[in-house]
Amino acid sequence: MTHRMMLASILFAAAVAAVAVQLGAQSASQPDWTALQDETMRHYQAVLRLDTSNPPGNEHVVVDYIKQVLDKEGIAAQIFALDPNRSNIVARLKGNGRKRPLLIMGHTDVVTVDAAKWKHPPFSATREGGYVYARGSVDDKDNLTASLMTMLLLKRLKVSLDRDVIFLAEAGEEGNSNFGIQFMVAQHFPDIDAEYCLAEGGGVTRINGEVKYATIQTLEKIPRGIELVSRGISGHGSVPLKTNAIVHLAGAVAKIGAWRPEVRFNETTGTYFRRLASISPPDVAKYYRDVLSTDPKVRTAADDWLFENEPRHSSMLRTSVSPNIFTGGYRSNVIPSEAKATLDVRMLPDEKPAEFLEQVKRVVNDPAVEVRFANQNTRPGAPDAKLDSEAFKALEAAATRVYNTITLPTMSTGATDMAQLRAKGVQCFGIGPAIDMEDGPKGFGAHSDQERLLETELHRFVRFSWEAVTDLARAK
Ligand SMILES: [Zn+2]
Repeated sequence: MTHRMMLASILFAAAVAAVAVQLGAQSASQPDWTALQDETMRHYQAVLRLDTSNPPGNEHVVVDYIKQVLDKEGIAAQIFALDPNRSNIVARLKGNGRKRPLLIMGHTDVVTVDAAKWKHPPFSATREGGYVYARGSVDDKDNLTASLMTMLLLKRLKVSLDRDVIFLAEAGEEGNSNFGIQFMVAQHFPDIDAEYCLAEGGGVTRINGEVKYATIQTLEKIPRGIELVSRGISGHGSVPLKTNAIVHLAGAVAKIGAWRPEVRFNETTGTYFRRLASISPPDVAKYYRDVLSTDPKVRTAADDWLFENEPRHSSMLRTSVSPNIFTGGYRSNVIPSEAKATLDVRMLPDEKPAEFLEQVKRVVNDPAVEVRFANQNTRPGAPDAKLDSEAFKALEAAATRVYNTITLPTMSTGATDMAQLRAKGVQCFGIGPAIDMEDGPKGFGAHSDQERLLETELHRFVRFSWEAVTDLARAK
């Protein structure tokens, strides 16, 4: 053990003691966190070892496992399924009804793997060097395990509740929500209806092993594909034509590529950049502050810097457009009569789709190119989860107690199952365990050819989940 590590562990022990004192002040019955580590690891490894690659999903294997765990604890659970292989499970701990329910959830499916690229087999849940390696270890069997453990503890410690706590493990998050959240919202909404929900999408960022900040996802962008279809006259390749569909399409895509839609902030992104500036080194903080400026010159310069250096932040500023598919032509001596490009558009939650489509048409400005929405499984748009809500405050307070860090609300550029719930009026917050910022670029992040989570951070996340849920739901 190095001196630095020793110091870190002393500080950690002190932090744990401080947390224990605070917990003691809150309630008499508290989990024995050290004793619970084996049980947490057992459930985590068990669900990781069940292959729920989507497609085909087969999420019922995880549902069966969870059902048996809940049964053993005496928690009634119900299975809902559009397809028996792709079931969902719901359990409810009753409160006194003084407040509306809290829903805690995790999705059971994982993205597919290229097993040859994994050092440890992707469904082995191998423990090595303090990490657990498996597909789903950070997406989303971490949230699943933390929510499950929280339910078991609430029941075991007989915590009296001001509101029902509902657990949902849902199928098909990775592209087939018709079996999961969409089905539950459309067919069984009363079983999961809640004031607040906690799901994936947030986390805690560590840099060089040190916690820097927590993120709580309060909002997400809405995916809407747009297609550009260019039509011209077909002919012999030896006689070039002015109407060549590929030339027109290439021109349209080039204009879209050079276009930067308007920068617009909402409560979440404004707060995010302000708080990020407050904890960042001055040379970088400058850009986070400048991008909020009302001076267009200052703002544009910061926007340019972010686009080049921090593209995820650039996407958070606007409805983003990325041309990702370009097709046309089938042999070298035939001028094709049609060519098509597909744009991946991620709209700001307040974007008006029809108006945005008109903007794209104006940018393309070519009557030979049709601009239209692609047919796709869309997720609905919805307002922000509120930062002045009891839930956000509870999560912020839990992040302070468990991680001793600042909380940044975030708008995710990707989409999650929270979209459907938010559209029904449930205020949803995305949470997650602490992850080293260096881990993603090294290839250990969600959806990578290796996925891993630190064991210590799994246990700390269970505690965070417990803290936030009990703060929000226990009888006061
Ligand atoms: Zn996920």
